[in-house]
Amino acid sequence: MSASNIEPDFETQRVRLLRPSWAELDYGAIAANLALAREMVGQATKIYFVCKGDGFGFGAAKVARLAAQAGVDGFCVGSPEEGMAIRNAGVDREILLFAATLPEDAAQVAALGLTVTIQSHESLRAFIDAGVSVDAFLEIDPGFGRFGFLPSQWQAAFEALRHQSTVRLKGVYTHLSSPESDDVTRTQADVFDAALADARAAGFDSLTTMLASSRVMLAHPHLAYRAVDPGRFLYGALDADWMARAPLRPMLRAVRGRIIHVQEHPAGSVLGIGYAEPIRLERAVRIGVVPIGFWDGLNHVPPLGRVLVHGQAARILGRRSFQHTVVDITENVRARTGSVVTLLGRDGDHAITIDELAASLRLPVMELIPRLARSLPHVDAGATDAGGHLRPVGPSKA
Ligand SMILES: *Cc1c(COP(=O)(O)O)cnc(C)c1O
Repeated sequence: MSASNIEPDFETQRVRLLRPSWAELDYGAIAANLALAREMVGQATKIYFVCKGDGFGFGAAKVARLAAQAGVDGFCVGSPEEGMAIRNAGVDREILLFAATLPEDAAQVAALGLTVTIQSHESLRAFIDAGVSVDAFLEIDPGFGRFGFLPSQWQAAFEALRHQSTVRLKGVYTHLSSPESDDVTRTQADVFDAALADARAAGFDSLTTMLASSRVMLAHPHLAYRAVDPGRFLYGALDADWMARAPLRPMLRAVRGRIIHVQEHPAGSVLGIGYAEPIRLERAVRIGVVPIGFWDGLNHVPPLGRVLVHGQAARILGRRSFQHTVVDITENVRARTGSVVTLLGRDGDHAITIDELAASLRLPVMELIPRLARSLPHVDAGATDAGGHLRPVGPSKA
């Protein structure tokens, strides 16, 4: 699938990019990471792609279409809206809705054509009472302390599900709290295994069983069960120490903007750049303004990190504005209106990694990537040249 037919129409995109700041995406990353996941878990294990957070900010419908085309088995979503967005994009594979709704809305939720989560006796009762036929997965709490049946509770749930016909139990899943710990992971997987044994004893012997999110897949590949539910693995969006465990391809490749305004302020000027207390400049300062601000998923208060302009580092002055960043280009003689400013990604011989950016903004990679992805216009990373300049994009040929 080419980028042109999954992005907004050419005219919308053209107008958006007249404010020149954007995120560059690798549209082949999901398929490549999915192939790697397949290699790790084997052909017999299903892969459910977690598209919560509007597909990690990349757009649930967009990433689901890419993954469906690459052969994913199903999806997990964090809201009914995401599930509908994927359905409306023409994807007909199973979509599991993680716990997200009220018991009183069970009939409406059940009518959406998604597989629902039953995470408590209250939600079980609500879906049974709704009287609407629905496929369901039961969630087990392995010691996470959020959703799911406890060991003292699940037996009654399996019994209740066995004795009615509208709610069809298709799977049992869980989510672990501490994939970095072998001990905790073993203890929590044991809780899940006990639940599965009781499900079998209650007569449920062909359930989809699912436990492993991205970090569990990377650290505990033997816990693949009949299905896995990775999110970040498929976006290539984990912290560096986890990314180092497998050759994952990041979907977010770069964040850039172009300088729309240059001003030289002579020595002696009194300036409150970036909402700072005004100071008298001891030397002339040349500034460049990039139209990218905290509205675009970055942050306001320093530290703000550095940027690259013509392959050279430059600092950010003051605080970042709603829609602008002021860069000190005094030492960068090549910088001018139109110069590309790299906040994330490669520029010539230098690069700012997602880990550097996340560390300098004091945000976890997991928070930073969706913030950027959901805010900025998306362009195909293949459509930029080595200096980060956008090549003109033609209208979709489709
Ligand atoms: C978020 C989530 C996942 C996916 O987590 P990743 O770390 O992105 O793989 C899987 N299962 C559940 C229940 C989740 O909430």
